[in-house]
Amino acid sequence: MDGAAIDRIGRARDAMRRAGVSTMCIGPGADLRYLAGYHALSLERLTLLVVQADRDPVLVVPELERPRALSQGVGERVDIVAWGETEDPLDVLRGIAGDPLGTVCVSDRLWAAFLLRLEHTFPRARFELASAITGPLRLRKDEREIASLREAGRIADEVAWALGEERMTGRTERSVSRWIGDRLLAGGCERVSFAIVAGGPDAASPHHEASDRTFAPGDAVVCDFGGTVDGYGSDITRTFVIGEPDDDLAAIHEIVRRAQEQAVHAVKPGVSASAVDAAARAVIADAGYGDAFVHRTGHGIGLEEHEGPYIVAGNDVPLDPGMAFSVEPGVYLAGRFGVRIEDIVVVTDDGGERLNVAPHELVRLPA
Ligand code: ZN
Ligand code: ZN
Ligand code: ZN
Repeated sequence: MDGAAIDRIGRARDAMRRAGVSTMCIGPGADLRYLAGYHALSLERLTLLVVQADRDPVLVVPELERPRALSQGVGERVDIVAWGETEDPLDVLRGIAGDPLGTVCVSDRLWAAFLLRLEHTFPRARFELASAITGPLRLRKDEREIASLREAGRIADEVAWALGEERMTGRTERSVSRWIGDRLLAGGCERVSFAIVAGGPDAASPHHEASDRTFAPGDAVVCDFGGTVDGYGSDITRTFVIGEPDDDLAAIHEIVRRAQEQAVHAVKPGVSASAVDAAARAVIADAGYGDAFVHRTGHGIGLEEHEGPYIVAGNDVPLDPGMAFSVEPGVYLAGRFGVRIEDIVVVTDDGGERLNVAPHELVRLPA
């Protein structure tokens, strides 16, 4: 991690030089974790990594969080400057960064409250988003990052397999969601990212919030969940049926399964992200359900649950080895049911590797 983090900051500074960026100010979030290996709390107290082309990087932290940063080894990667409870951290920041001219990049998730104060602190700067610098770096995962994604995917797969044997009739979405979260943690995830459970008509809402609805035989059950390993997430969706499916559900599940398969097969270096989306969309549109596939085919995944590359029409970025993203077509019929199937796929030298292999067929749960 230490060597990797130093190398990452070095590459970020190279990109800053090329882009004519004098300073980057990175608040808590994935960019900070990526660059400095610091998993920070996002609080009203300022935490900020300052990266400048011609000075050593400095992490500004509240005094009471210095031990947290040190315990994560951050002091071996960057200098740490702590500010006291009654100090103004912006004064401390100005002492470190000076009065930068030109472009200052701030992390995309930096709170507006901090950005407004930064604008006063650096009056001569022009502010832009740091994702212009960090996005391209984070897009291609290295071996260690892929190993974390793979382990997170393996744990999610185990939960998906186990779900296929659960009796759900009479249970609520909320209780099954909790069950999934507990299994992810028991399996080795450090954190549950989300656990969507949607039964019957609720499954027609792609981001349904698990409710107190109880399951009944014949329900389609969409389970979409993930947890993190070393900060890197998993994200898997499987659609089950309680007992026997009706003909429409069985047919639509098979359409979505083929769409997902076609899209995964389309993944290889040089192919555009939009072509992967088109591969899934063609199968669903040909079957007459194009209007019911209401979202993009996928999103990148890493230290964030959703990041680049987005697998969507109009994104012509060519796929490159090391990119990791979801392939998750779905069909949603309001008032009736929904079906989605999702795997994480990593681009290899000659294709794509699925990180999820739990059964893609429509698994029948005991009624
Ligand atoms: Zn989603
Ligand atoms: Zn998902
Ligand atoms: Zn997803």
